[in-house]
Amino acid sequence: MKTEVALGIDVGGTFTKFGFVDRNANYLAEGFIETAKHEDIHSYLRELCKTTHEVLATIEDSVKLVGIGIGAPDGNFYKGTIEYAPNLPWHGIIPFTDMMEEYYPDLPIYLTNDANAAAIGEMIYGGAKGMKDFLVVTLGTGLGSGFVAHGKLIYGHDGFAGELGHVIVSPDGRQCSCGRKGCLETYVSATGVKRSAYKMMAKYTSPSPLRDIPFNEMDAKIISEAALAGDELARATFTYTGEMLGKALANVVAITSPEAIFLMGGLAKAGDLLFKPTRETMEKNMMKLFKSKVKLLPSQLDKNAAIYGAAALVWEERIN
Ligand SMILES: [Zn+2]
Repeated sequence: MKTEVALGIDVGGTFTKFGFVDRNANYLAEGFIETAKHEDIHSYLRELCKTTHEVLATIEDSVKLVGIGIGAPDGNFYKGTIEYAPNLPWHGIIPFTDMMEEYYPDLPIYLTNDANAAAIGEMIYGGAKGMKDFLVVTLGTGLGSGFVAHGKLIYGHDGFAGELGHVIVSPDGRQCSCGRKGCLETYVSATGVKRSAYKMMAKYTSPSPLRDIPFNEMDAKIISEAALAGDELARATFTYTGEMLGKALANVVAITSPEAIFLMGGLAKAGDLLFKPTRETMEKNMMKLFKSKVKLLPSQLDKNAAIYGAAALVWEERIN
């Protein structure tokens, strides 16, 4: 009997990666195409579907494709559209799943934003197996989040629920890419950490190798490596980042009362550097009712998390 597989597609600004994954998290084949070179969505989809068909052909003797899941920035689950994504080459509202049906006419195709896909991936394949109430916070260039309540992802009225990155944590604070000021992601994200490193340089006088790095060459990885090597400024930067995140999470807990909060992505790999101040600040600011009840955990999906998340959309819909 053939193994049922889902095709998980992670649409990113530079590359689109995909993989064929079965219900038990076996990763059977994979591939990628360049996103950035296709200004025309039609030529992009043509290449994407041609490539996925070719990779599928290499395993087709032993598998049966049962559905396609897509994680994309600014993806709308209800409509299968990508809407005004600033980091993708296509403008306006793209009817992505409708257009893809031309190439995969008989299969269910689901699309959601990348952080929502990550949350479903965590539930189907990762550390949230068996949990009904949790959230996943993805820490990349920006901050994304997916909220699960009663075992279902919260999409909201229009399909865009769960924008924790754009909760205002500092009125009139840092300018955000969304046009407003003081959003959480301007503090807690790879770019936020970089901005905070310079704040710490101005605040303290301690010597640090970070002071010799020009702004355009600085990144979160350099700061976390410096912190791990014991650099005081870099450590202060992570403490500040954790405090901003911890306060925001204490507020989130008051609204959704989750069993666990998972942190995923580049910054989460800094481990205790980020987890410790976040956990401490979260507990300190939490209502008594919730204290010591909410687990703050690293994601159990590591490599190819976004593809697992996208594939998990298919299994999630088959179960429900
Ligand atoms: Zn914002």
